[in-house]
Amino acid sequence: MTSLTRRQLMRLAGGGALALSGPTPEGGATSTADRARLMARAVELRRIAVERGDQAFGAVVARGGQVVGEGISAVLTTPDPTAHGEVQAIRDAARRLGTPRLSGCELYTTFRPCPMCEAAAYWAGIVRVYHGEAMTDAGEPRLSRC
Ligand SMILES: [Zn+2]
Repeated sequence: MTSLTRRQLMRLAGGGALALSGPTPEGGATSTADRARLMARAVELRRIAVERGDQAFGAVVARGGQVVGEGISAVLTTPDPTAHGEVQAIRDAARRLGTPRLSGCELYTTFRPCPMCEAAAYWAGIVRVYHGEAMTDAGEPRLSRC
């Protein structure tokens, strides 16, 4: 994982998740250490995707700082044009939790979600999205960024 820039460190030092606006994840704001651990897992899943010969994307759904869903891009290996890492993670979380409603969950993904994945997160009720190793806070998922 790349090191944080001075600006990112200052932003985190200024309150981290506690300073974020919008809905709070279940179990309260996720700590900086938890967010780093969750993104590291998404990066590990991205590595597995590449090993399998697929696109370099991985994602994790977390609730209360714990992984409840994991996604490895399977677009090429399935083949399924909708099997993006984020959608795979959302599907896995819904299966594990036994519900399509992932309210109180966060999505950690190695790249900025495409419109399909962000819409999937929106429909699942995910409260916050972080993307990239720089841990960009994309806030609440929306149906469209256009
Ligand atoms: Zn996508």
